[in-house]
Amino acid sequence: MIRFENIHKWFGKDLHAINGVNLEIAKGEVVVVCGPSGSGKSTLIRTVNQLETIQEGNIYIDGVCVNDHKTDLNKLRAEVGFVFQHFNLYPHLSAIDNIMLSPMKVRGMKETEARELAMGLLEKVGLAHKAESFPSQLSGGQQQRVAIARGLAMQPKVMLFDEPTSALDPEMIGEVLKVMKDLALSGMTMMCVTHEMGFAREVADRVVFVDHGEIIEEATPEEFFTNPKHERAKQFLSQLR
Ligand code: ADP
Ligand code: MG
Repeated sequence: MIRFENIHKWFGKDLHAINGVNLEIAKGEVVVVCGPSGSGKSTLIRTVNQLETIQEGNIYIDGVCVNDHKTDLNKLRAEVGFVFQHFNLYPHLSAIDNIMLSPMKVRGMKETEARELAMGLLEKVGLAHKAESFPSQLSGGQQQRVAIARGLAMQPKVMLFDEPTSALDPEMIGEVLKVMKDLALSGMTMMCVTHEMGFAREVADRVVFVDHGEIIEEATPEEFFTNPKHERAKQFLSQLR
């Protein structure tokens, strides 16, 4: 569903942020990406929908080359749900209107249909009772769950998460991870940058460890947590505990 083929990305001339990444994520697979701060995790995940351009290599979503100049980026981005660390909800729109916006604007869905879809998604993330609340009236965890629902409203082929819980108060992390876990169980293809190792252990099919723009370890959670091969991965894990 997602394929990175020998990806290179430079910022300016000297910062080789992504250095020859190869990675395949199968349909329905959940891959957790972890690694030290500044290692290139955000840059890598942002290349998938071309929020970052690449200088070398190819990225495919379901067989479509995203970095091909002929690819329609709006269409591509509609198929790739993206949830950021900061929720980025539209502050002037209610929760339900945030979710309805893209289906109506991009897909031309009728309002009644979009409302029904959005309500179903709000139910899925446990927030049907907050449909008419504005982002400022919601907790961080609730806002992030609305953001996930908004991503799902376009019926994406893949969902990308970039540290979705790292801006949250500790007591709200669980509710967001629960929504992500349910989504994983429903068969969604997911690429998640997260340091929530409990989530990785429980939900991920594979863990990918990135350092200095390279994937230096790729393993099942079981292997990665009990027997990391690489010294830098061992170090990273020991700092988390
Ligand atoms: P991570 O998400 O793993 O913390 P990033 O992907 O954000 O790492 O950053 C990887 C490297 O690229 C870092 O050295 C960072 O400073 C640099 N970088 C990220 N975004 C930009 C940018 N827009 N311009 C210049 N350098 C950047
Ligand atoms: Mg990052």
